[in-house]
Amino acid sequence: MSDAPSPWKSFQAKKEAYLAYARPWEKKVGSFLTFRPEAPSSAGSGPSGARPLEGLPFGVKDNIAVRDFPLTCGSKMLADLVSPYDATVVARAKAAGASVIGKTNLDEFGMGSSTENSALGKTSNPWDQSRVAGGSSGGSAAAVAAGLVPFAFGTDTGGSVRQPAGFCGVYGFKPTYGVLSRYGLTAYASSLETPGILAKDLGLVKTVFDAVKGRDPHDQTSLDPESQPVRPVKTIAVLADLADLDPGVKAVYEQTLVHLKALGYTLVPVTLPTLEYAVPAYYTIATAEASANLARFNGIRYGHRPVYAENPEHLVRQSRTAGFGNEVKTRIMLGTYVLRSGFQDQFYTKAQKVRTLISNDLQKVFDQADLLLTPTFPVPAFVHGDKTMTEFQQKLADKFTVTANLAGVPALSFPAGLAGGLPVGMQFTAPAFCEARLFEAAAAFATRVPVADCPGTSLDWSK
Ligand code: GLN
Repeated sequence: MSDAPSPWKSFQAKKEAYLAYARPWEKKVGSFLTFRPEAPSSAGSGPSGARPLEGLPFGVKDNIAVRDFPLTCGSKMLADLVSPYDATVVARAKAAGASVIGKTNLDEFGMGSSTENSALGKTSNPWDQSRVAGGSSGGSAAAVAAGLVPFAFGTDTGGSVRQPAGFCGVYGFKPTYGVLSRYGLTAYASSLETPGILAKDLGLVKTVFDAVKGRDPHDQTSLDPESQPVRPVKTIAVLADLADLDPGVKAVYEQTLVHLKALGYTLVPVTLPTLEYAVPAYYTIATAEASANLARFNGIRYGHRPVYAENPEHLVRQSRTAGFGNEVKTRIMLGTYVLRSGFQDQFYTKAQKVRTLISNDLQKVFDQADLLLTPTFPVPAFVHGDKTMTEFQQKLADKFTVTANLAGVPALSFPAGLAGGLPVGMQFTAPAFCEARLFEAAAAFATRVPVADCPGTSLDWSK
């Protein structure tokens, strides 16, 4: 882990060599929906040298706005949209010296855990191309793991930065809600989501975070991180009862406990009684918010417009029928169902109460320990089209990641080892504004288990 990344000199100086490396990899993994390494988008030259991300190219999930690049959200609905402006996190990364070289693939509007719900492209795992890269920020994770960019932005509503990072063997960081501006992020479930950062170098995750965090006048929910007393991490909470883990993930989890003990941390067994309600609460709230947020895509103000329609209602129906994929339609219907008049108490209000209980449970854990350790996801990367990982199974498997979104607290997936040749991610969760604890413990862990390189990748962005 390096504190300050040096620019990858080869990118500007040896663009030919970069392209010769990147093109075949990109062909294999399909991480980008738009790939423009020849014409990167930057803030232009500034006071070079002083800028913390000087010279670094990066990728941006295609539901985050980058000026003059498409902003498709992986949907046919927005296949033709080009953004006229930069999201705040993108503008700040550019101002820090970095340049966007592409927009990465995702599950349509961020809905999914495999990137197979993208209407516009197929992304595969660089470690094994018969497998998915995870999702919904699968393109960002694959691009980083394949060495095509040193870092990428994703979005995390219920785990979409951390789960693909785990599947691809890189770091995936979701900060405290509000610390990264959502301006320029196409809303899916506003109360849960945040931009997040993926990289293979933990120091770079932190450098990018420091360069882009903080209050933004364009996002009323954004805020400056509250300063927390800095004290070293000593205790780590672990779940006393961890059922339903894939044997490979279980083995890596158990090795992780051994390493953490050897590093001198005290492991504190805890229970999270409300964990089993996290997924139902998350999908109730997320679909409710999605049904409202996606109402704007109707072929009139935005989105795919049919060639011919009898009247406005017919136009909207045709636009949404042709523009949205099945998962998005399912969620809009679920969301309108849980918000249906007379039924809010049964679903939406109940889910909000569960959300409070989950925050309280986590608070109790943090009264006993500095961090919480869990696996990121119960299984490693599954094969494309896996019939055992149905849409429903994938949702149930979100239980370890959605808790941090429901509570608004920060979490980091870190590469913890391999199972059957595939990377497995473990996750630290911390109290609000205690991001520093995540970085500290993950850096200590990496002294014992260095991040493994994906076979066949040869670009080292830290040189
Ligand atoms: N898998 C979760 C979902 O489908 C997470 C998505 C996300 O974080 N954007 O909603």
